[in-house]
Amino acid sequence: MNMMNMDFRRKLPIPMEVKEMYPLTGEMSDAVERRTAELKAIFEGKSDKLVLIIGPCSADREDSVIDYISRLAPVQEKVADKLLIVPRVYTNKPRTTGDGYKGLVHQPDPNASPDLFKGIIATRELHMRAVKETGFVCADEMLYPENYKYLDDLLGYNAVGARSVEDQQHRLTASAVGCPVGMKNPTSGDLTVMMNAIMAAQHEHDFIYRGWEGHSYGNPYAHAILRGYVNRQGVTHPNYHYETLLYLASLYEQWDLKNPALIVDCNHSNSGKNPFEQPRIMKEVLHSCRYNPDLARLVKGFMVESYIEDGNQPVGGGVYGKSITDACLGWEKSERLIYEVADIL
Ligand code: PEP
Ligand code: MN
Repeated sequence: MNMMNMDFRRKLPIPMEVKEMYPLTGEMSDAVERRTAELKAIFEGKSDKLVLIIGPCSADREDSVIDYISRLAPVQEKVADKLLIVPRVYTNKPRTTGDGYKGLVHQPDPNASPDLFKGIIATRELHMRAVKETGFVCADEMLYPENYKYLDDLLGYNAVGARSVEDQQHRLTASAVGCPVGMKNPTSGDLTVMMNAIMAAQHEHDFIYRGWEGHSYGNPYAHAILRGYVNRQGVTHPNYHYETLLYLASLYEQWDLKNPALIVDCNHSNSGKNPFEQPRIMKEVLHSCRYNPDLARLVKGFMVESYIEDGNQPVGGGVYGKSITDACLGWEKSERLIYEVADIL
C-alpha cells in the first residue's frame, strides 16, 4: 500500500500548552515588546542606530550560549547610542545534504539521539533565559514555519534562510510574523527570488497553518539579507560590494515595498566561510554607506557569526563555546569589532 513510510511516534504538545507550561513573566513580555519596538523603529527609518545580529551559527548548548549573551550585555550598554544588539540564538540548522547536526530542537544534547519533545522545551527555555537574564530579545531562523508559534512571544527577529526563501509556506508564515523578518538571497544568488519573498511576506494571505484555516495581515518589516552565493561551479562569491548594494537599492526602487532595508550577513558565502573576514566586510559596507547616502538609508545592520572561541570543531569536539557548525569569530575579536564599529559610526 502507498502509505507514508514513517512512524508517528508521539503527539507533541501544541504551542499553547507549551506556553502554559513555560509562561513569560510581565517583565519578560515588557522587555520583548520594548526591544522589538526599538528594532522596528530602525527598520522604519525612525532611528539611525544600526542592528547587529551576532552570535554563534548554532545555539548548541545552553551554558555557553547564555555565557556568550551575558558577555554581550555590558557591551550593548556601552554602544547603546549607536547599535542595537540582537543575539543570534539559532536553534535549528538547515543542512545542505540533510546530514549532520540539525540544532537544539532536534538534539537538545548534540551527542545523543534526536528528541524533538525535549528539543521544543529546551528551545523555549533557552530563549526565555536569554530574555530574563539579559533583557535582550534574540534572533532565530524560521526553518520550520510550524514551530514558529512555540516562540512567537519571545523572538525579536527572524531569518528565512537561503535554502528556504523560495518556499511558499515560509513566505506565507513570514507574512504572519509580528517582528522583523529577513529574507536571505538564495544560495544561487538570484536577488529576484529574495525580492519575491519580501513581496509575499509583506502581503496578506489565506493559508493552512498548524491545522487551521488562517488569515495573515502581512509583515511590513520583511526585508533583504545578502549572504553571498555559490556559482554553478560551486565557487563562493560575495554580494556585499558597492555595486551589488546599489543594484539592490535600484531593485527596491522598482518594487512597491514598505521599509526598504538590508542586513548584510558577513559570514557564509560573503566571507567564503572564513569568519575572520567578517570585520573587514563590515567596515567595507560602512565605507560604502559613508560614500553614498542612499546606501546609508538602505543598510540597517549586519549579521555576524561569533562565539566564545574562534573557529569550529566537529560535533562532540567538546571545546566549550566553540561552534559545531560554521566557524565563528571568537569573543575577544568580536568585542573589539563592536567597539571599533561603534567608534566609526
Ligand atoms: C546561518 O545563518 O547559519 C545559515 C545557515 O544561513 P544561510 O541560510 O544563509 O546559509
Ligand atoms: Mn551559519
